[in-house]
Amino acid sequence: MIDNLESIKAQIDIVEIISEYLPLRKNGVNYTCCCPFHTEKSGSFVVNPKKQFYHCFGCGAGGDAIKFLQEFKKIDFKEALEEIAQKYNLPIEFTKNNTREQTLNALFEYNKICKENLLKESNKKILQWLLNRGLDLDDIAYFDIGLAPVKTIVNPYLLECGVVYQNGYSPFSNRITFALKNAQHKIVGFSSRTHPYGDFKTSAKYINSKESKVFNKSKILYNFSNAKQKAIEKKEIIIVEGFMDCIALHKMGFKNAVATCGTAFNATHLSQILRLREEIAIKLCFDKDEAGYLATNRAIKMLLSNENLPNVLFMTNKLKDIGEVLEKKEQLEFKEYNGLEFFVRYHLKRAETIAQKNALLQEVKDLINGIQNYYLRSALVNVACGILGIDREFFTQKNTQATLDTSIEASVFKSILLDKDCAYIASEYLNGDEFFYFRDDFLKHKIGEITQKARNLILDSSVLALSYEDFSESLKAFVKEYYTRELNKAKGNHDAKSVILWARKIQEIMLPF
Ligand code: ZN
Repeated sequence: MIDNLESIKAQIDIVEIISEYLPLRKNGVNYTCCCPFHTEKSGSFVVNPKKQFYHCFGCGAGGDAIKFLQEFKKIDFKEALEEIAQKYNLPIEFTKNNTREQTLNALFEYNKICKENLLKESNKKILQWLLNRGLDLDDIAYFDIGLAPVKTIVNPYLLECGVVYQNGYSPFSNRITFALKNAQHKIVGFSSRTHPYGDFKTSAKYINSKESKVFNKSKILYNFSNAKQKAIEKKEIIIVEGFMDCIALHKMGFKNAVATCGTAFNATHLSQILRLREEIAIKLCFDKDEAGYLATNRAIKMLLSNENLPNVLFMTNKLKDIGEVLEKKEQLEFKEYNGLEFFVRYHLKRAETIAQKNALLQEVKDLINGIQNYYLRSALVNVACGILGIDREFFTQKNTQATLDTSIEASVFKSILLDKDCAYIASEYLNGDEFFYFRDDFLKHKIGEITQKARNLILDSSVLALSYEDFSESLKAFVKEYYTRELNKAKGNHDAKSVILWARKIQEIMLPF
């Protein structure tokens, strides 16, 4: 770790540094030239002296002066920083302690305090309550379940993570705590719940740690570090919504179960599973209520659009949830469905009018035709034809109305709404026409107004906001979609000149670094 990184950054000038290697030209407030990271004839490479970063609109490369040297000279961060420090005659001060590690240590210690507290004589009733729910002391130790003390010593790292307040109290005070761990089995936060022996009337049953530099709620899969080995062995992983369900499944022998932590199962979760580098079947096992069905269908759509067909596990015990099966010591029974079958049957049952049925057909067709893998697509066509009683030809017929995937657009616009750097880049490079669905909302946002549609988008948890790095990449895909739309329009109009123009633009934007 470097102590004075920010101070070094504040004393250097990106234009001066890049000018040593590239022929920058002044263009308004910025500097431009041809991009060194991809082949081009126009100057898509822009250096912004005010914000001290560079960005290439052609290939998406971007970052600060250090990143530029890293990429341009193919050197690592330390080497790039050393070169800059030498040029400006600045010392580099290395820290002995790493704040990330300190934070992880503080969370580990806090967890120990909670675990010891739960086993205290004075908290016997609370422990007994947990044991009555079917857990034993081994489970409590294995899953790092504890009881947060009402007050604890204030530690700056815990303070920063929102685990304690300045006055020593905690959002988790007197709650049962469940340690949340990352894929490397390090505690990064907590979830907590109420119990019958405290006064919690004013607060929610479950409370999670707030997001911090070590904890990102939408990335965490509860129990993943324990379950991943079993998932590889069995070639399947079970996804549940609550960690009590996950613990209950583990107890009943399903050691390959993981849970999301108060968010929908999303593409980031999926990429964690895919990183296991094995073909692992995904089984969704959500609550047996309307909210659970909605979450299941949303996850199925997300997975299908990522070329992954999940199965749905449906608990057939006549009880509320898996936790209750454990408590009542029943044998857990599942019925298993093909994910697409579940999706189609669910919607077919609820489609009442011809228009609704037709919309369902169209949705299923788009879902299936979006799949690149021929064998998967073909298998899904069979499933859909079987349930809907239609011919395979339906899936190869041209759509009468154009359909449009607005998922990238929504993510890009959400990032613009939530991140100033993303908004800045977007205002530099987009004129608004690239947007199909949020055009007016983008233009309004540019002049400082937030529309209702933009507000709804911010609140829509199914749309992910992107990090700055991912944003540059996605912007490319987003602009490409726009070019493709224009290309198709030009083809439809038999406008050869425009066809060539848009085709060339698509080619340019697709060039590698
Ligand atoms: Zn470039």
